[in-house]
Amino acid sequence: MKIEIKCTACGQPSNNLLNFKCPHCGQPLDTELHSDFDTQKIQKNNHSVWRYTNFFPYTKEKNITTLGEGWTPLVKFSKNTYFKLESMNPTGSFKDRGSTVLISALRELVKKAGGYISEDSSGNAGASMAAYAARASLKAKIYVPKNVSGPKFNQIRFYGAKVVKVSGNRNKVAEEAQKPEKGRFYVGHILHPLFRDGIRSLAYEIAEQFDWEAPDCIYLPVSAGTLLLGVISGFRHLVKCNIIEAMPEIVACQTRQVSPLYHRFKNLPYEAPERVNSIADALVSVNPPLLEIMVRSLGEVKGDAVMVAEDEIARAFKELARKSFFVEPSSAVAYAAYQKHLQNERISEDTKTVIILTGTGLKTTLKPN
Ligand SMILES: [Zn+2]
Repeated sequence: MKIEIKCTACGQPSNNLLNFKCPHCGQPLDTELHSDFDTQKIQKNNHSVWRYTNFFPYTKEKNITTLGEGWTPLVKFSKNTYFKLESMNPTGSFKDRGSTVLISALRELVKKAGGYISEDSSGNAGASMAAYAARASLKAKIYVPKNVSGPKFNQIRFYGAKVVKVSGNRNKVAEEAQKPEKGRFYVGHILHPLFRDGIRSLAYEIAEQFDWEAPDCIYLPVSAGTLLLGVISGFRHLVKCNIIEAMPEIVACQTRQVSPLYHRFKNLPYEAPERVNSIADALVSVNPPLLEIMVRSLGEVKGDAVMVAEDEIARAFKELARKSFFVEPSSAVAYAAYQKHLQNERISEDTKTVIILTGTGLKTTLKPN
């Protein structure tokens, strides 16, 4: 299996796995898969992301850094509706798929250079990267917004990462994390192509858990786009290699406050709120750097976008919990969108649907009432 990393704008290849943007023009990089997905090459006894190790050829076996992530339960919720419990990953979110692949690919290069990794995040990605850095005995510096607090922030610190608080907006935090400094390797989960590439494993898993019959529809929350783009990449690979017959319809779910993709996809004007205060607090990318790529990819696979309001999210979050699925409010955005489509008969009870429950409810700061 061969994978090429190329610039999404100028098309030039990137020959260094450590690059997080195009060395020629500075635009985002993406991976291109050049060979076949072959079910015979799955390591069937391995119940983690690494059962697909042959499809991530840039990692060496001896460098694989794993906490047992992936192969999460696909639970039947109703007649034709399934939940993919990404909340069951080791640090509590789907981000572990990106971290395990990225850290496994880069740890040797970073260690040889005597360096450390830097990342910007206040939430699940920061916690995940901090955990995998610790597992690989790599030093990590996580840049967070100044006002950050709560269980995710504590989790990052418990894993032993150095935390740097930055005043200003989310872009300022990213800028600080990227500033060149001796020994620093920026591995930001939004930009680094290998993080996104790790998410591809989620598509393989859903297809395999359905015995290589893809569902009709997949609902997932979208903020910066790593989940959306990774899942699309994986399913496209399976379609191209004739492993599944057709691409499931990918439905990108956003909050009213943070919905740049929804608006762009529907050709509507979007004005970001001055301050995001949605209960879906993991979805904060009002100006995501990968927006154009998301719009293009979602269009190419004939997907759709949907937006839900705060009261719909709150209701979905509570309903999920009452039905024994305790996820973070941001994950409930996908369930709220699914319910909206059921109500307006965009889909029916017969539509075979997967809703990706991205993160655990144990990290929420909400109080029950
Ligand atoms: Zn370029």
